[in-house]
Amino acid sequence: MPHRIRTARLGVLLLSLALGACGVSEQVESLQADTIIENVTVIDAVEGARANMDVVLHDGKIASVSAHGTHTLPDTVTRIEATGKYLIPGLWDSHVHLSYTEGLDHTTFFPLAIAHGVTSLRDTGGHLDKLAPARAAAEADPLAPNLYISGPLIDGSLRVYAGQSPFNPDISVGAATAADAERIVDELAAAGVHFVKAYEMLSEDAFKALVARADTHGLPVAAHVPLSMTAGDVARAGADDMQHLRNLEFSCASDVAALLTERLDMIAENDADHPALLRQNIHAAQRPVAMADLEPEACDEIIATLAEHIVFQTPTLTVSRFATHGLYRDQSYTATFDYVPAEVGDGWKERHLRYADPSTDEAVLQFDDWFQSMLPRLAEAGVPILAGTDAPIVFLTPGASLHQELFLLVEAGLTPLQAIEAATSAPASFFGIETETGSIRAGLTADLVLLTANPLEDIRNIAKIETVIKDGELITRPTLDTLLLAPNAQAD
Ligand SMILES: [Zn+2]
Repeated sequence: MPHRIRTARLGVLLLSLALGACGVSEQVESLQADTIIENVTVIDAVEGARANMDVVLHDGKIASVSAHGTHTLPDTVTRIEATGKYLIPGLWDSHVHLSYTEGLDHTTFFPLAIAHGVTSLRDTGGHLDKLAPARAAAEADPLAPNLYISGPLIDGSLRVYAGQSPFNPDISVGAATAADAERIVDELAAAGVHFVKAYEMLSEDAFKALVARADTHGLPVAAHVPLSMTAGDVARAGADDMQHLRNLEFSCASDVAALLTERLDMIAENDADHPALLRQNIHAAQRPVAMADLEPEACDEIIATLAEHIVFQTPTLTVSRFATHGLYRDQSYTATFDYVPAEVGDGWKERHLRYADPSTDEAVLQFDDWFQSMLPRLAEAGVPILAGTDAPIVFLTPGASLHQELFLLVEAGLTPLQAIEAATSAPASFFGIETETGSIRAGLTADLVLLTANPLEDIRNIAKIETVIKDGELITRPTLDTLLLAPNAQAD
């Protein structure tokens, strides 16, 4: 079959050669264009870097990507002279919560995301009624980021996020049984979610039923590894993505079976005041045991299993390494607290200082080292990584925190191009829409970011944004600066 296609194409080529100059000019006129980005270095995770390219946009899509000077276009076309500049696909933050913090919703997330080149957001847990205004705004406003939602976390009969405290707002539903899990997935599918989020207190039965049911709806599953299962079992059950590398350390320990039995006993006993504390107690009891007993072969095996089953990993380094990465000492980061509504930002300005000095606790540092060491190992094994932050948890400013996540991915050992992949083509693959978005080639959605410096030389150049392009619309620097101020302008 491929051979026959090649022959047919050759026929067209010969015909156009026979038509000569006339054939070529016809081809040029047939390229419809409203914008051309001229002589730019195009960077995506599919083809790497391509220098001296022209990228033509038409009707919200990329119409062509070709060597500079290939097309002669009429003067009516908007021209962006981009010599010495770099064009990357629009970024994704694959782990946010638009309904976690009172006073910090899509009216903050959307402008700050776009201002930082984040053209797609994946909300990993929130009730549908709370998310309804965000969904409506994303639909109605062409300059809002694309929004992908899971609806509430699906937890077990015990729920970690059930409104026990400001740190555990109610963003979940409980599935006590397999039948519950199936019913909830059916309801969420009917409500139009884009994926399903499985949480930590699910039983093995309910988790497996959830994944199987989501599959019948064509919905991918982003999961926390339930405490009732091993990471390998989660992969074999068919989960598509795991969050925070959490509970993965148990599967890297030599006696994973004994740890699992102990966890199941602790869950059955349930002697904590509420499920969030129970989960905390389990981690406090088991993590030191796992970290003292890490077995390289066990870890190699679980990494191979994740690769074999193509289970994406969203490590959320900005939140997972909260106690160690020293983000809150970086004044260029804490200055972004001014962008979030003052009623929230003022509290952040006060409270973040408590965490400004990175932890010196040996156990915390050992876990942190292990955590970071997993990133290059996973990437090398072919496990796809997603860049996600968990914003706005622990003072994570929408948009700005995604840049931090990319910096931390590179610090942990990914190449800058692998970090860009984690925020562009990898999330597109998670949703099976890589032929629509996530890289830079003809036919794909024109969600793009124009940078004034090379992010492959220094990932921090990802912050040097000149223009963001959303569905082909140009959002230039002055407008981006206005968007940074928008959340507080609205509050006035
Ligand atoms: Zn989260």
